[in-house]
Amino acid sequence: MPKPGPVLFVAVLALEVGPTAGPMPQTGHPTAAPAEYRLHLQTIDRADLPVPVLNLAMLDVRRIWAPYRIAVAWSSKAPDDDARDILVRVVFQQTPRTADEPARLAWIPFLDGDVPRDVVYAAPGRALQVMNQRRRLIEKPRLLQEAIVGQAIGRSVAHEIGHFLTASAAHAETGLMRAVFSQAELAAPGLSAFTLTIEEVQRIRERLRSSVEAGRR
Ligand SMILES: [Zn+2]
Repeated sequence: MPKPGPVLFVAVLALEVGPTAGPMPQTGHPTAAPAEYRLHLQTIDRADLPVPVLNLAMLDVRRIWAPYRIAVAWSSKAPDDDARDILVRVVFQQTPRTADEPARLAWIPFLDGDVPRDVVYAAPGRALQVMNQRRRLIEKPRLLQEAIVGQAIGRSVAHEIGHFLTASAAHAETGLMRAVFSQAELAAPGLSAFTLTIEEVQRIRERLRSSVEAGRR
């Protein structure tokens, strides 16, 4: 049993396997039905993120979670009280808190056991560094830089939200909850590499059902 602790998201250059990383993984019933739960992300920007990067990042979080009937909204303020809202703060900061994890793009702290804190940290500067290694991003037009960095941040944050919603530090073999994404996957236009397994969907739905029911009592 691995020791629970801060969950690290690490993009590793050596594991890059191609533009879409193989076949579509098994997914947990994506649906076009209306959202059942709302996840509100309160963004706290300590990194002077350009607005387009922030919006592109949050847009990918929304696109990744929408098929599972979880609607993601974001603002710099906490939302009004609403029992259907799940609130997670997303803190953008310049550097990870520990300097020995150079490629860490986002992370979520866990308290003892499987109790995630309701705050996700992201390091946009790391995203630019990591995506620049292969793609010479700083030589590209600003709009493309912003899009790639925004996607890399958004997909990393979406992964950490998966840890929050499953209340688990575990990683999967496929999809959104893998331990490592390639640069190609982070930069790809599509999101086929960022799906949930049926087991993950079931775990999240059970947790949301019980926590939201508890909140309504
Ligand atoms: Zn993880």
